[in-house]
Amino acid sequence: MEKRVYNFSPGPAVLPLPALEEAQRDLLALPGAGISILEISHRSKKFEQILAQAEANLRSLLGIPSNYRILFLQGGALLQFGMIPMSFLRNTGKPADYIVTGTWSKKAADEAKTQGTVQIAFDNKAGNYNRVPEPSELKLDPKAAYAYYTSNETIQGVQFPVEPEVGDVPLVCDASSDILSRPINVSRYGILFACAQKNAGPAGVTIVIIRDDLLAKAPKDLPSLLNYPVLAENNSLLNTPPTFAIYMVKLVTDWLVREIGGLEKMVEINRRKAGMLYEVIDRSGGFYLPHAETPSRSIMNVPFKLADTSREEAFLKGAAACGLVELKGHRSVGGFRASIYNAMPVAGVEVLRDYMLEFAKKS
Ligand SMILES: *Cc1c(COP(=O)(O)O)cnc(C)c1O
Repeated sequence: MEKRVYNFSPGPAVLPLPALEEAQRDLLALPGAGISILEISHRSKKFEQILAQAEANLRSLLGIPSNYRILFLQGGALLQFGMIPMSFLRNTGKPADYIVTGTWSKKAADEAKTQGTVQIAFDNKAGNYNRVPEPSELKLDPKAAYAYYTSNETIQGVQFPVEPEVGDVPLVCDASSDILSRPINVSRYGILFACAQKNAGPAGVTIVIIRDDLLAKAPKDLPSLLNYPVLAENNSLLNTPPTFAIYMVKLVTDWLVREIGGLEKMVEINRRKAGMLYEVIDRSGGFYLPHAETPSRSIMNVPFKLADTSREEAFLKGAAACGLVELKGHRSVGGFRASIYNAMPVAGVEVLRDYMLEFAKKS
């Protein structure tokens, strides 16, 4: 078999090896079914159990209260950028507040503008999206339909240490790149969604956690695949769901429950991994330059540059030779980005840290 390297891709991203191994072992015949997950009916008892277990794992890991529904949808995070304002902004006569801290929240705000009035509660484009706002910088409207933010900006590596305080307005969060990376208080949210392919599974499924009162308020006259109440009534089985992706979310969350031991443990490991890289950057005497300001630094995506940009290609080439791949930064930020999601082993980050130290010493 081809050797696995350390994959720092922003997404689709590294998956826990035990989850991949279990999928490989059971690919031809699921225990108790004798057929592959790829061949099974989404209406079968076996698949219903998989779906129920994925949901139960999410509920226990995130402490999701009983007045929230969990939906497994298609269309990625981007469809939620549209579905949320279509259901909760359009025809409400109210504006929605958007906190813009990077590429993804900007895109979400632009999508929402197709459905209604968007107020920008904060936008740090002038600072090249290198930090989250102070509470005092947020221009929030107590009459807004909802307040929207992105807990972790995958491209800029900017993460909210805690959710913003938005009063009684429903808080909507795109947690695509940090769901399951740390414990959160779900009861603070109206809607929390995440595409799976960063930190929760493969591409193809999006997890939507939505509070009952919002479900009750959602319009009923939308086409069924855009209709949250219909999707919820059908328990995400309105039409054929992405069965394999949901199965992988089950395996990834099994791993978090059984092998990691929950999100308190996970965040400790994540902080340790991120800390190793930020320490190299901070102690490099300006050789490596971080993108994000310290209090806003992400524990999932670590973007950084070389002071001497002419050495970028050499850095990437040397990294690849050490089995460290997908480190190129997004074109809008430049430099490098190490995405160190839950499934990136500490050992992978250690190899990257040692490589960065060595590269700086030789230069
Ligand atoms: C990747 C990403 C998206 C886009 O997800 P798709 O599933 O490709 O639509 C949205 N928001 C954040 C924070 C992301 O990291």
